[in-house]
Amino acid sequence: MSDAIEILKSCDAFLEGHFLLSSGRHSGAYCQMAYLQQYPEKCAEVMKPVAEAVKKLDVDVIVGPAMGGIVYAYELGRQTGKRAIFTERVENVMALKRFAIHPGEKCLIAEDVVTTGVSSLETKRVIEQAGGVCVGICCVVDRTKADAPSPIPIVASALKLDLPNYAPEECPICKAGKLPLVHLGSRKMAQKAKQTL
Ligand SMILES: [Zn+2]
Repeated sequence: MSDAIEILKSCDAFLEGHFLLSSGRHSGAYCQMAYLQQYPEKCAEVMKPVAEAVKKLDVDVIVGPAMGGIVYAYELGRQTGKRAIFTERVENVMALKRFAIHPGEKCLIAEDVVTTGVSSLETKRVIEQAGGVCVGICCVVDRTKADAPSPIPIVASALKLDLPNYAPEECPICKAGKLPLVHLGSRKMAQKAKQTL
């Protein structure tokens, strides 16, 4: 487990500092999983335990919702020998645009980060509409809270992280006054955050 977090840190997929989230809340850590995908070997290493778990499951197809899930579905397909496909948004609705799921096929959803699991419900709907059976989610980072489990069971993850976030007026990092607040909206800001660390 600790290996995975070190790999994520090494490519800035996991940042520590003082971050403004899109919700307006503050956090001491930030996940940007696309950064892991820059390095296929690191990606493969992080996904190894997930692939080992998936090999033991009765799964026919790994389904990665675009964009975040595509590379991880592919990597799991590569490591397990199972078929990997992706769903994508067509006019803002998740759809199976270019692949087939055959009736009765057992499908595992692959995500980068699962926070609530609610967004995976769209992919589950697509799988079921095609006649497939959704057997669960696997992901790189499981950020679900114990008191709010994912509506679709998470059957394997590389890393489980409990990252607290705070209302600005209650933020302990603001109170400590040592780290400037960073909004990671662009590549430039990501670079800036790195320099700040
Ligand atoms: Zn703060």
